[in-house]
Amino acid sequence: MFDHPDYDDHEGVHVFTDKATGLRAIIAVHNTTLGPSAGGTRLWSYINQDDALTDALRLSKAMSYKNAMAGLELGGGKAVILRPETMFDRDALFAAYGRAVEAVGGAYITAEDVGVSPDDMRIIKTQTDYVAGLDTGPAASGDPSPVTAEGVFRGIKVAVRHKFGLESLRGLRVAVQGLGHVGYALCEHLHGAGCQLVVTDINRAVLDKAQDELGAMLVDPQDIHKETVDIYAPCALGGAVSEKTLPHIRAGIIAGAANNQLATPEMGEACRQRGILYAPDYVINAGGIINVAAEVSGTYDPNWVRGKLEGLETTLKSIFDEAAEHQVATTVVADSMARARLGLSD
Ligand code: NAD
Repeated sequence: MFDHPDYDDHEGVHVFTDKATGLRAIIAVHNTTLGPSAGGTRLWSYINQDDALTDALRLSKAMSYKNAMAGLELGGGKAVILRPETMFDRDALFAAYGRAVEAVGGAYITAEDVGVSPDDMRIIKTQTDYVAGLDTGPAASGDPSPVTAEGVFRGIKVAVRHKFGLESLRGLRVAVQGLGHVGYALCEHLHGAGCQLVVTDINRAVLDKAQDELGAMLVDPQDIHKETVDIYAPCALGGAVSEKTLPHIRAGIIAGAANNQLATPEMGEACRQRGILYAPDYVINAGGIINVAAEVSGTYDPNWVRGKLEGLETTLKSIFDEAAEHQVATTVVADSMARARLGLSD
């Protein structure tokens, strides 16, 4: 563990198994300097255990940076559940997982991520109070995805102003990779703002919906990054920007919801050298955790959420300005700001 390339002095990495339900989960607590760690739980069919561990380590670190940059009193944590390979009882699995969250004793508060819904949160809640993103209860905030999409939309407008000097998105072409909870909601915002959409997903039904409802043009998943567009919005899984894909990306801006969009940290500088403005993922996609933080505080206040989303825009603008002034990658500026807020050395 201590030699793992993605181990970053994580405060705790907890492994849980429950034979009766098939649960195999990893809860990674990266840093609790600013408060209890918070971040979503991902349910995914990992190719192997090492991929699951890598995901948990990388995503939990990103949560520390995300929560710090969003000005939240929360640390960074994330959990992954390895999807059982055979038939399983979903409620029993999430109840067992709820017991695992409880066992971490409050150092980690969970919410939704890929493959997990508010219904699953309800089951987790039967076992622990360290859960948010619920759709019932005194401070319930529900599915964070629409707020994540709103934050990404706001961030795209900041990026467009910086890169193209435009106040309006009307007529811009945007490629969206992944039309899930966040991606589809983002497409609705973009369509409403007059953008032309080029989209992809591995789920045919959602593509048909985007074509019918939003007039989106459909492309194959392996070609989305090659489209001649103004903005590329990765909203599926991580690693969309890699040594393999970057040479084909023709967008002036990369700004999307996915976590860990850069396959390696070097991709940040590589984007800059190609004249691409990259909106650091953990800054632009913080809307959901902002919404979750409102619930964790005990009283859900939509005005507080709006204020934090405006803060996200201000932070993004200052990252773009500073990166331009010093001719460095946006990721360098963002990482340095995040580490300073966490009291970590560069
Ligand atoms: P989701 O599971 O609802 O959607 C993901 C979508 O991507 C699905 O429609 C899936 O079919 C599609 N997809 C998967 N592989 C693909 C591929 N190779 N090519 C094209 N499409 C593919 O997940 P979500 O909640 O919308 O989250 C999307 C991304 O945003 C994830 O990286 C997640 O970690 C990140 N994120 C989500 C939130 C949130 O509030 N939900 C917050 C912050 C970050």
